[in-house]
Amino acid sequence: MLESEKEFALSAVQAAAAICRRVQSGIALDSLDKKDRSPVTVADFAVQALISGRLAEQFPDDALVGEEGADQLREASAEELRNRVVAEVQAARDDDPTSETVLNWIDRGQAAGGAQGRFWVLDPIDGTKGFLRKEQYAIALALIENGQVQLGVLGCPNLPDSMDQATGPDAGYAFVAVKGEGSQAAKMPADGTLGELSPIAVSSSDDPASARRCESVESGHASHDEMAQIAEKAQMTGEPVRLDSQAKYATVARGESVAYIRLSPDASYTEKIWDHAAGEIVVTEAGGVVTDLLGKPLDFTQGRGLVNNRGIIATNAALHERVVRATAEVLGF
Ligand code: AMP
Ligand code: MG
Repeated sequence: MLESEKEFALSAVQAAAAICRRVQSGIALDSLDKKDRSPVTVADFAVQALISGRLAEQFPDDALVGEEGADQLREASAEELRNRVVAEVQAARDDDPTSETVLNWIDRGQAAGGAQGRFWVLDPIDGTKGFLRKEQYAIALALIENGQVQLGVLGCPNLPDSMDQATGPDAGYAFVAVKGEGSQAAKMPADGTLGELSPIAVSSSDDPASARRCESVESGHASHDEMAQIAEKAQMTGEPVRLDSQAKYATVARGESVAYIRLSPDASYTEKIWDHAAGEIVVTEAGGVVTDLLGKPLDFTQGRGLVNNRGIIATNAALHERVVRATAEVLGF
């Protein structure tokens, strides 16, 4: 099922990865000191415009819930940024869309989501800090119908074959899952090709001691101390692997890590649907389980935010109950 949607999503994410790589190659790592975030801003807007534009052409009746809106780009003072975004979108297409068309595509991603109907969810660049550090980031695209995630694609342009390897020109993977049909991965290297899709599965280990877990790099996004306490309670004694973006879900789905725990330092933080929709289906279709910190399923029916959930626990299934129990003990649920 959803064959044409699957093909569309993989192709869109592949084209988006090319934009990201081109923009990222222009970042000098020493420029990070100068706090120039403009490369990631350019790529973020350009990817949303590209995918939204393709969506408008191929599935004109489908809405899009995207992270970005074009208000900032429409300001007179944003002319240089706007021109860079438009140039990236034009370079990625055979035609030359006008600036207004590109801005309208970006704004087309401002749908509200909700419990009814069919809409796509896009995080054009998830893990913007990882993108700037030339580490992990992801392009995350999912399809939701009547509140249920039906399809998800994660493009991870810098993800190596194994987390123990450094990233390089051969790195890059795409992950795809269709509800009821399992998860697959294909190599998506910098040469622009997409390898053959093959099935992936979570780790079958139920031994917490030998298990590797992953978590966010940024302490502003995840409370490393509390997550370490949870892991200790669950007897997961291994050092966590830190990586940005939904690439964390991908490492659980392909069996490299057994758990991804996400606990914001801000207890009132509402997780966003574009940060989890694609990752959730890629993990569950690979045999894993994804819930919030209380063990509740993620509720995608509430608009742009996961307002009925707090945090994330994604595991290989075998260790899920253990992590949920440990979380309840540490957080006093
Ligand atoms: P990560 O790559 O795991 O650091 O997560 C990146 C995502 O964190 C971004 O896409 C943001 O939507 C999200 N984020 C931003 N602020 C917070 C916060 N205070 N707590 C949790 N997540 C956040
Ligand atoms: Mg994000």
